[in-house]
Amino acid sequence: MNQSFDLLLAGAGHAHLGVLRRWAEPSARHNRPTGRIGLLSADGHAWYSGMLPGLLSGRYQLAECRIELDALCRAACVELLTGQATGLDSASQQLQLSDGRALDYSYLSLNLGSLPALPAQSGSGLELLTVKPFSAFIQGWQRWLAAPQALAILGGGAAGVELALALAPQVAKLTLLTASHLLSGHPPALRRRALKHLARQGVTVQEHCPVDAVVGQQLLSNGRMVWQGARVIVASGASALPWLADSGLACDEQGFVQINALLQSTSHSTVCAVGDCASLAHSPHNGVYAVRQGPVLAHNLTALLCGRPLQAFHPQRRALALLATGDGGALASWAGVTGEGSLFGHWKDHLDRGFMQRHRMP
Ligand SMILES: Cc1cc2nc3c(=O)[nH]c(=O)nc-3n(C[C@H](O)[C@H](O)[C@H](O)COP(=O)(O)OP(=O)(O)OC[C@H]3O[C@@H](n4cnc5c(N)ncnc54)[C@H](O)[C@@H]3O)c2cc1C
Repeated sequence: MNQSFDLLLAGAGHAHLGVLRRWAEPSARHNRPTGRIGLLSADGHAWYSGMLPGLLSGRYQLAECRIELDALCRAACVELLTGQATGLDSASQQLQLSDGRALDYSYLSLNLGSLPALPAQSGSGLELLTVKPFSAFIQGWQRWLAAPQALAILGGGAAGVELALALAPQVAKLTLLTASHLLSGHPPALRRRALKHLARQGVTVQEHCPVDAVVGQQLLSNGRMVWQGARVIVASGASALPWLADSGLACDEQGFVQINALLQSTSHSTVCAVGDCASLAHSPHNGVYAVRQGPVLAHNLTALLCGRPLQAFHPQRRALALLATGDGGALASWAGVTGEGSLFGHWKDHLDRGFMQRHRMP
């Protein structure tokens, strides 16, 4: 039998964690809308990407990098449902799961993140590990670590750089391939700092090298072989969950759910979408913006269910970037100014631990 919810939160992304935390606070429980509310999560915990590089370089334990959803949901009076969404029918207001279950909703909020963009693969002999979902990635990486081999990482954004710096000391040879220049979208000085750290760790960087095909054990860029080996980690870009484009919700040309400043779907006012799975002008796909959407989403979900006015989300013009360098330090960038060193590493650690602490229930 289908389960029906007044409000269904799909995905335990950063913004939904913020919503749950607000409803869990004893002084703010009255803000939780009345009715049956469920959170659908692929597993029982939510990973924090900011701490993943530190986990891989041995600075954190597993339990420090993930939030147990059971306690958070209980405190927020929200039912935790574990399952993988595989389809959405926005006309009949139903979310379909991989195990055959279907969840009906009156209101839906999507915070499902994104997936790395995969090149076309043919032939065999090469193992691809995508950085998301995190639990599968960590299991795969632990398996690889038992017999380390040369490795390539696809993606020269913040995630690719942090992963390369965390993993370089653990493998004999590491190559980082990026479609444009390293850390595009960040100030040139941050790229120079990152290149210096990568060179120090012995990482080979191949810029302007978009990998569009994997054939056997070869990575090809515009038909040219650019790397050969058996293991590749994909940390490139953000691509939309494929089934969102078939949901009936308005999506942009890349398949992300088109939303307005109120964080509502532009086609369906009973659906909100936030974080990487949503498309909103001046809101890049990264964790900082997903976190910032949390308070506005919490207000708007309650307002929607109670028929009250919604608030607009105003994306900040600049975001602080702190990239772990694998040695306890970090590269920093804010408003075009960059820096690096252990002080920034401590600052990042303080911010990351603070985020986790806020979402942990006693
Ligand atoms: C190594 C690494 C480091 C990064 N560091 C930073 C950083 O320092 N700063 C920064 O701003 N960004 C960083 N990012 C980017 C950041 O991870 C994402 O932009 C951010 O996680 C997006 O948040 P979100 O709330 O949209 O979704 P996520 O945090 O990705 O959460 C999505 C949730 O939905 C669940 N889910 C997904 N699909 C389904 C499904 N079909 N059914 C049910 N549940 C599902 C997932 O299990 C997950 O719980 C990093 C990324 C990586 C890979």
